[in-house]
Amino acid sequence: MSYDCSFLADLRLEDGQFSSDESHLESHAADWGTQETDRAVVPDAVVYPRSTADVSAILAAASDRGVPVTPYAAGTGLEGGAVPASAGISLDLTEMDRVADYRPEDFQIDVEPGIIGSAVNEHVAEDGLFFPPLPSSGDISTIGGMISTDASGMKTVKYGEIADWVLHLEAVLADGTVIEAGSRAVKTSSGYNLKDLLVGSEGTLAVITQATLELAGRPAQVRGGRAIFETLEDATRAVSDCVQAGVDVAKIEVVDGLSATMANEYFGTELPDAPMVFLEFHANHGIDEEVEFCRAIFEDHDVSRFEMSDDDDEMDELWQVRRELAYAVATYDPGLEPIQSGDVTVPISKYPEIVRTVKRLAAEHDLLAPCFGHAGDGNLHYTVLVDYDDPVHLETCKDLYAEVVDRAIGLGGTATGEHGVGLGKRDYLEDEHGGAAVDAMKAIKRTLDPDGILNPGKIFPDDESRRADD
Ligand SMILES: Cc1cc2nc3c(=O)[nH]c(=O)nc-3n(C[C@H](O)[C@H](O)[C@H](O)COP(=O)(O)OP(=O)(O)OC[C@H]3O[C@@H](n4cnc5c(N)ncnc54)[C@H](O)[C@@H]3O)c2cc1C
Repeated sequence: MSYDCSFLADLRLEDGQFSSDESHLESHAADWGTQETDRAVVPDAVVYPRSTADVSAILAAASDRGVPVTPYAAGTGLEGGAVPASAGISLDLTEMDRVADYRPEDFQIDVEPGIIGSAVNEHVAEDGLFFPPLPSSGDISTIGGMISTDASGMKTVKYGEIADWVLHLEAVLADGTVIEAGSRAVKTSSGYNLKDLLVGSEGTLAVITQATLELAGRPAQVRGGRAIFETLEDATRAVSDCVQAGVDVAKIEVVDGLSATMANEYFGTELPDAPMVFLEFHANHGIDEEVEFCRAIFEDHDVSRFEMSDDDDEMDELWQVRRELAYAVATYDPGLEPIQSGDVTVPISKYPEIVRTVKRLAAEHDLLAPCFGHAGDGNLHYTVLVDYDDPVHLETCKDLYAEVVDRAIGLGGTATGEHGVGLGKRDYLEDEHGGAAVDAMKAIKRTLDPDGILNPGKIFPDDESRRADD
């Protein structure tokens, strides 16, 4: 179904702020998570607001006419969250990318949603500050997208996720009403916590137009490196024990041997193709004790090498490999493509078991299933390399992917630790939360967006507005 968006011409928008050109429409009908088998729903128009007033006017007019509006930022989402499920308007927030105010004395910055994450760090670096929860995609994704998916990153094990660093939001409701949520005080007990309701709501409840972010001081001491293990089981148990023992680690990431092989092909590195744990420690004093505490635990798990360094270049190389592993996986075999990127998350004591599940299933079906991820959070990224031209192979890969999600939920975990539900994880919502909780979520959605115009077809499995032919 397509929608008449000619009303956009009557709004006070400037030249170039909306378009129905094929190139604009096509580029907003996919994101990084769009699969080869997906049928994209192309929007009818793309609009580029430049202010909160623009967003308000567009939503009020769309709401009056029942036209769906799907917020779109950098499109790096991995679950199709920004891809329209019902045509209508793609609301591209990337032109709203200014720093509105910066208060280093309060460790706070006010930004528009389209600003790229690393630009926030660049803005505050000279004051010795940083924004800790940036995802690995922090150089290519926006603050608005991160807030809307409640993203997290490699430093989440020490510093927490995006939700922990957002103090206040300005947002526009479906009917164009502008609201403020949260407070610029670092704590508040006032009223319902609308700010945390909007964080992670994937553009289904409101459009975020400004955010106050909290910042942290850069640690005086940073040390990083890698530990190499004989078996993946040793590596995952070592991480689990470290977290349970309270080692104060800032990053602790597992990379399996298969991922290391793929990284070597892609980056030309010479990593041992063995299970590894990449580590980074942050402290203002006493970093040696923390590193030794970790080493002692790793030795209990037969670590074969434990190599730490203060050298910035060495560390940059290591973390670049980890950050860009997804590219290495995607290009490893020209005949195969990675299926959806998994991001199940389980309680830390169950981490070895979820990794074991992926490897057992891959071995049973002779599939390539690389595993890596934010192990300290119990978060596992896994995928399966699939031959999309072979329907049987595709089905087997999909089954593996789904079985791992089911297992994670069964272990008390979640289908998605950071990527959100979008289109890809809708079918797990009820399994994870139960029908009554999903009904409560739907009641909230109906209250804030009675006509269902905001990002319809996302999060809920039985939303009528699904992709064409779904
Ligand atoms: C190589 C790579 C590595 C990644 N690593 C990580 C990682 O470590 N951790 C992690 O959490 N994710 C990661 N991701 C996923 C992705 O980068 C994050 O989900 C990111 O937060 C999405 O931001 P975006 O600007 O691209 O948003 P988009 O993909 O454009 O949108 C994401 C969702 O937010 C909504 N939205 C966007 N802006 C607004 C707004 N202003 N108001 C309301 N709704 C809005 C959209 O409708 C959509 O539902 C990775 C992706 C890639 C490609």
